[in-house]
Amino acid sequence: MLGKAKELANELKQDICAVIIGSEIRKFCNVLSTFGANKIFIAEDDALKEYNTEIYTPILTRIILKHKPNILLFPATKIGRDLAPRVASTLKLGLAADCIKLTIQNGKLLMTRPVYGDNILADIICPNTRPQMATIRAKMMEKAEPKQNESAEVIKEPVNINVDSFKTIVKEKKKTSIPGVKSIDEADIIISGGRGVGSKETFKFIEELADVLNAAVGASRAAVEAGWKPKSCQVGQSGTTVSPKIYIACGISGTTQHLVGMKGSDVIIAINKDPEAPIFEVANYGIVGDLKEVVPLLTKALKEKKMGGYKIQ
Ligand SMILES: Cc1cc2nc3c(=O)[nH]c(=O)nc-3n(C[C@H](O)[C@H](O)[C@H](O)COP(=O)(O)OP(=O)(O)OC[C@H]3O[C@@H](n4cnc5c(N)ncnc54)[C@H](O)[C@@H]3O)c2cc1C
Repeated sequence: MLGKAKELANELKQDICAVIIGSEIRKFCNVLSTFGANKIFIAEDDALKEYNTEIYTPILTRIILKHKPNILLFPATKIGRDLAPRVASTLKLGLAADCIKLTIQNGKLLMTRPVYGDNILADIICPNTRPQMATIRAKMMEKAEPKQNESAEVIKEPVNINVDSFKTIVKEKKKTSIPGVKSIDEADIIISGGRGVGSKETFKFIEELADVLNAAVGASRAAVEAGWKPKSCQVGQSGTTVSPKIYIACGISGTTQHLVGMKGSDVIIAINKDPEAPIFEVANYGIVGDLKEVVPLLTKALKEKKMGGYKIQ
């Protein structure tokens, strides 16, 4: 985000600012200035430890009204997708969500985002109101080169909140993920299953392969909607964008909505019984076959390899 902000700010000859809201957040100032922030606004309070839309929205809107930024960028993460529209609607501003490209055209921010199921790209400008606001899809922007010894001006913002007046307070957070099960956000290898897996029971083939490769299990929306896997496993436009070292798609056709979420993977392997399936167009390696046969064979071969090679005949 800061890499892109730097590029835009250089073109417009403006400052690159960052906002951090939370508790014990000063420690992040260093990394933000290393990545290019000139000014960092911090709103710090113990009551801000857990993200809460109701509390974060007024704090951020006050900061906006005070410092009047020209452009305001949010990551299209779960929090960004929640907070940005709240702030936009509070301040009666426009918001271009889920952008994949940002450029400056005639001094205005041109926000590009896929529409109609990712089939066309729309360019959006915000002619009348400021700040121009966008959420940015994960991993779409180039990371800036960090520069050591950069020091940003840190500006403390008043928090002024009365916790008792809020309708909801997060008292405790519990991880819903099952211990030992890898999350797709952080895995180097993801094995995903689609409608072609056929049932919740057959997903065990995918899980066994994931286990032997120490990989996370992903799913297409079709597999999630069938109730075979939880939403947290969904890869794609309305799920998570991933870019692991290896992505193995099993029984997934490769619609644009799925592809946008995984085509940034280093190596894509597709297993599909239909040789015409569009997934093969993006795959580095393809296996045409029934996943119920291919996946257990792969698992077996990898297990044997892990055990120290093949048996001598
Ligand atoms: C606004 C919007 C957002 C969306 N967001 C997402 C999203 O985030 N993620 C997502 O995945 N989808 C998303 N979709 C849905 C998307 O359009 C597709 O419907 C979905 O991706 C299809 O899932 P699939 O590939 O598993 O199923 P299908 O398209 O039905 O493909 C199943 C594949 O399995 C193969 N197959 C069948 N049996 C076997 C077998 N035994 N062995 C091997 N191969 C087999 C078939 O040949 C076929 O290619 C979205 C749609 C819309 C409109």
